[in-house]
Amino acid sequence: APESHALLERRKKSFAKPQKNYYADPPQIERGWREHLFDVNGRAYLDMVNNVTILGHGNPRLAEAVGRQWAMLNTNSRFHYAAVAEFSDRLASLAPEGLDTVFLVNSGSEAVDLALRLAWAHSGHRNILSLLEAYHGWTVASDAVSTSLADNPRALETRPDWVHPVLSPNTYRGKHRGEDATDGYVQAVIDKIAEIENAGGQLGGFIAESVYGNAGGIPLPPGYLQEVYKLVRERGGLCIADEVQVGYGRLGHHFWGFEQQGVVPDIITVAKGMGNGHPLGAVITRREIADSLEKEGYFFSSSGGSPVSCVVGMTVLDIMRDEKLQLNARDTGDHLKARLEALGQRFPIVGAVHGMGLYLGLEFVRDRETLEPATEETSAICDRLLDLGVIMQPTGDHLNVLKIKPPLCLGKESADFFADMLEKVLSDGW
Ligand code: PMP
Repeated sequence: APESHALLERRKKSFAKPQKNYYADPPQIERGWREHLFDVNGRAYLDMVNNVTILGHGNPRLAEAVGRQWAMLNTNSRFHYAAVAEFSDRLASLAPEGLDTVFLVNSGSEAVDLALRLAWAHSGHRNILSLLEAYHGWTVASDAVSTSLADNPRALETRPDWVHPVLSPNTYRGKHRGEDATDGYVQAVIDKIAEIENAGGQLGGFIAESVYGNAGGIPLPPGYLQEVYKLVRERGGLCIADEVQVGYGRLGHHFWGFEQQGVVPDIITVAKGMGNGHPLGAVITRREIADSLEKEGYFFSSSGGSPVSCVVGMTVLDIMRDEKLQLNARDTGDHLKARLEALGQRFPIVGAVHGMGLYLGLEFVRDRETLEPATEETSAICDRLLDLGVIMQPTGDHLNVLKIKPPLCLGKESADFFADMLEKVLSDGW
C-alpha cells in the first residue's frame, strides 16, 4: 500500500542503513498473536523465524505482569528488592549443579562480552578459541569471536589477535564428515592450541554454541565438546556455552544445548527467549569465576536485573511451565522435522534437515554430491513463502538454509501449514 511504502521510505531516511529488514518489500506489521503476525490490512502471517518470542506474540499474562510491575517499581540492582534475588535463584536452579551464580544484563551480546571478561579474569589469559562460521553478537568483544561470513564478509580479516578461530565442526559440508569427523575436528583444536603455545601464549577460554545455530542448526559431532572442554581445562582455560539461541527449551529434547553433548560448561550465556522480546540476558557461572571479576572492580548494568526485567524473566518461566512449551517444542518439532524430511525424499534441492525441536535448518543444495549451495533459490523460496503468508529467512554462511525457529507455542496445524506451503513452492517452482 502507498502509506506503507511511504513509511518504509521514512525508515530508510532516519533509521541507520546497516539495520536491515530482510525483505525488500516487507508487510507492515501491526499486531501479533501467538505464532502469527497481522499486517495493517489484517492479513495473517505465520512467523516461523522469530527465535526471540518463545511464548509467542502478544501474551496477555506477560503483558499484565509487566504492566503491574512497571506501575509499582522499576529501578536498578544497586537497590534491594525481592525480584532480583528470586529471579537469580530461579535461573541458577535451571543450570547444572555448581553453576549457582548469576549476572543479569540486557542482551546476548552483553552476556557474551561479560562471559569473555570472566574467562580472562579467572584464567589470567586472553587467548580465546571460537568456531569458524559462528555468530555471538555485535558488541566489540562478542563481534570479535563471531566469524560468520554471512553476517560480516570481512570477519576473518578484522579479528583482534586474542581471537583464534578453529575449523567449523560442520558435519554436513565441513572438511570432516562421517565416522572420523570428531577426531578430525578435535585435532584442529589441538593444532590451534599448539599454535598459541608455540608463540608463547596461554589459553584463556573457548566459546561455542552447543548446536551450531549460525550454520543452520547442525549438531556438533558426537563427543566433540567433551574432548575440547578437556583440552581447554587442562590448560586452565574456561569453557563458555553460548545458549542465547539454542538454550531455554527450544531443542525440545533438552532445556540446554550442551546437554546434547553431555558436558557441563563453566559459563553459560542466555538471552533472547528468556525475555520473550523484552531486553534481558544473563550469565550463569560458578561462584569463584564470578568473584574473579572483582579484580577488575565491580560490575554494574543500569537496567540489567531491574525489577521489570526480573518479573518478565520469571513470568516467561511460569508460562513456559504452565503451557508445557518445551514439550511442545519437542513434539511439534519432531512432527515438523518428519514432514520436512519427507519433502527431502521428493525434492532433490533439499540437501538436509538439520537440528531438533523447534531449532531446525532446511539446507538447499544444487547438487547432493557437491553440496553446491542453492543461495539464490533459497532467497526466491523465502519470497514465495511470504506471498503464501509465511515469514521465513535464510541463514548459514551461504544463506542457503531456512532458519526454522518459530515461537515454542507453534501448533501442529501451523507446522503443517508451513510444510504444506513449502511443498507447494517446491512443486510449483519459485
Ligand atoms: N549469541 C548467539 C548464539 C546469538 O544467536 C545472538 C543473536 N543472534 C547473540 C549471541 C547476540 O544476542 P543479542 O542480539 O541479544 O545481542
